[in-house]
Amino acid sequence: MSTLDTPALDPRKLARRLSNKHLIDGSFVAPQGGKTFDVIHPATLEVVAQAAAGEAADVDAAVAAAKRAQASWRALPARERGKLVAECGRRLEGHKEELAQLVALETGKALRTESRVEANVVADAFIFYGGLASELKGEHVPFHPDMLTVTIREPIGVVGAIIPWNVPMMLMAFKIAPALVAGNTVVVKSAEEAPLAVLRVCEIMNEVLPPGVFNILSGFGPECGGPLVAHPDVGKITFTGSVETGKIISRAAAEKLIPVTLELGGKSPMIVMDDADLERAVEGAVTGVRFTRQGQSCTAASRIYVHESLHDRFVEALKARVDGMVMGDPLDEATDIGTIVSEQQYEKVLGYITQGQADGGTALEASRLPEDSRLSKGYFVRPVIFTDLPETSRCIQEEIFGPVTAVQRISSLDEAIEKANDSVYGLAATIWTSNLKTAMEGVRRLEAGFVQVNQNLVVQPNLSYGGIKQSGLGKEASLEAMLEHFTVKKTAIINMT
Ligand code: ADP
Ligand code: MG
Repeated sequence: MSTLDTPALDPRKLARRLSNKHLIDGSFVAPQGGKTFDVIHPATLEVVAQAAAGEAADVDAAVAAAKRAQASWRALPARERGKLVAECGRRLEGHKEELAQLVALETGKALRTESRVEANVVADAFIFYGGLASELKGEHVPFHPDMLTVTIREPIGVVGAIIPWNVPMMLMAFKIAPALVAGNTVVVKSAEEAPLAVLRVCEIMNEVLPPGVFNILSGFGPECGGPLVAHPDVGKITFTGSVETGKIISRAAAEKLIPVTLELGGKSPMIVMDDADLERAVEGAVTGVRFTRQGQSCTAASRIYVHESLHDRFVEALKARVDGMVMGDPLDEATDIGTIVSEQQYEKVLGYITQGQADGGTALEASRLPEDSRLSKGYFVRPVIFTDLPETSRCIQEEIFGPVTAVQRISSLDEAIEKANDSVYGLAATIWTSNLKTAMEGVRRLEAGFVQVNQNLVVQPNLSYGGIKQSGLGKEASLEAMLEHFTVKKTAIINMT
């Protein structure tokens, strides 16, 4: 039976309950301006909730609450904060299925292959960072025998976090868990397309954390995100989203001279050398392109440079593998691939596919559109594997954020690396080879913040993740990320004479 009719936990009911609410100072409140916007289920286009459209007045209220909560939160012993954040993670574990269904409903990401995976990582991120509280250490500096000189790590104050819709709960968790453990208080601005699951995560955290320590607003970028960045009491912005918006935020932050962490786009290359294990590389491409998430990942392997000796077999095997994947109702257990998140993204992705064909590429379409008439208006796009695209095509140069990849022929490692590095982006890269020397050369020469050999893992707790070039500034997901991006160092010199 389809879960469109009888979802076990009824995410639609939960979505309605979460309508028209921000979470500020420990309570659900309606937006002061009384405005809302529709949240749609992109598989059916039904309106599942009305989200609060936050504006400057709501931002003021949330930042004021976060500021009030600062003194007592930072005064707690670090391990006490860590225990509370880890407890949030344990509570979230108990709500995994509900969160997965909710995020599947608002984003169209398939429940089994994507949304549950995200819900798992969310709980884990809180538990991971909760355990790192006693690592907020300073240093002893051998300055003078009579002067005890130390550095102390202190929280920044109020942190603003602006998040996107593709993995909203996970990206929020990797921002707010370290910020909170480090003693900051937080105001989150969720993405227009996915305000519900993150609000539910915050409602669960609210059972554990004191009021005002974290607050979440929904709303549009310029109207709600803009005032958050500009607010005089916000001392740091951590952002994940597009390069364009990242630059706007970076300029606004420069006006106040506050630090920013930016996780922006990518055009992550995957290089398959002639000595690679073909089967493994094809599986790696399935994961790497994120076909199950409709390619909506900044790390997506959207350019695959395959040695000419393997190229045709690789394309054939990849197409056959994706043909075997089921596209359909995101909440149905049988579904591998759900929908694109919104009409805007849907049109954008289709535009790129048309562009690639106009550029001379051959577009191999894989899998099948769902036949269920209830899904006929949904934003489903058949995955596309391009071959023979010119390197100058926008499909090779620009981030598509859709189920589209290009398999390009290369004849040497030098050629592959040169093409891979010919990009404004530098987020992630993978190289597939059975030769250690080739692997190490790829690791050394590829311009990316996150390089893997013979695998295509997603972001993992404890591994620093972040890009170079226009893919962003700073790292996330690790201890270093917490220390470098959510604390400031104070130097103290104590004259003992
Ligand atoms: P996309 O629209 O492609 O998903 P964006 O970078 O525009 O990516 O959106 C990521 C997040 O940034 C969202 O939460 C969005 O509301 C927010 N945002 C967009 N524009 C601004 C802005 N001018 N100031 C602050 N936040 C913004
Ligand atoms: Mg936008």
